[in-house]
Amino acid sequence: MESIGSFVNIKSHNFHFHGCSTCEGHCCNGAKGFAASPLILEDFEEVYKNFPILFSVTEQKLMAYVLLNDGKNYCRYYVNQQCSIYLQRPPACKLYPVSPYFEQLFIDTACPSVNQDSGYSLCHDGQLNSAFATKRLENFVEKLEETHAFFESINALEDFEHVGNLSGIPLFRYIKPSDNKYIKMHLESLKHSWFYVLTNSSKPELAVS
Ligand code: SF4
Ligand code: SF4
Repeated sequence: MESIGSFVNIKSHNFHFHGCSTCEGHCCNGAKGFAASPLILEDFEEVYKNFPILFSVTEQKLMAYVLLNDGKNYCRYYVNQQCSIYLQRPPACKLYPVSPYFEQLFIDTACPSVNQDSGYSLCHDGQLNSAFATKRLENFVEKLEETHAFFESINALEDFEHVGNLSGIPLFRYIKPSDNKYIKMHLESLKHSWFYVLTNSSKPELAVS
């Protein structure tokens, strides 16, 4: 199988999806899937209790990422060939193999269940089947702009500390005192100590209430 990450714009495509029962969780495997996924602000609440949230800079913009695995092995919540936190899995996991990029939607054709004619209709004539949509897609562009505006407001290099790298992505934590709820969730998420093992960085002293 090719690596996860062969995204195709759903525009003028028809895809079907025949389910996950015959798949060995490719999208949960860091060796084949994603090590990190970008977040919008509303994702923080759903993610920080189970995964580390770190910042990075992509195309000169500050972004927040959830770290899903070490880039080599399965997600630690993949147990007995299924997701052990299914209802609390990150928003990107809930949407996959669908992924939004601004106002456009993409399908990862590397997902073994994505095909041309077998199973449920995933998208038809450029329209996503509503059964595969999640509330994350509602007003997605507005949420993305709100997210970028917030990140722009905290985008000062001296307020961040480089704490490691994952799959070539440099990762930073916020070090300035802050009462902002998103910053608090970011700092709280750093308690997931496995992150420090995979990046060979030291766990910082956290002052989180
Ligand atoms: S979404 Fe695709 S890659 Fe992920 S477990 Fe299901 S079939 Fe496999
Ligand atoms: S949270 Fe669940 S669905 Fe997401 S990568 Fe981990 S095991 Fe897979």
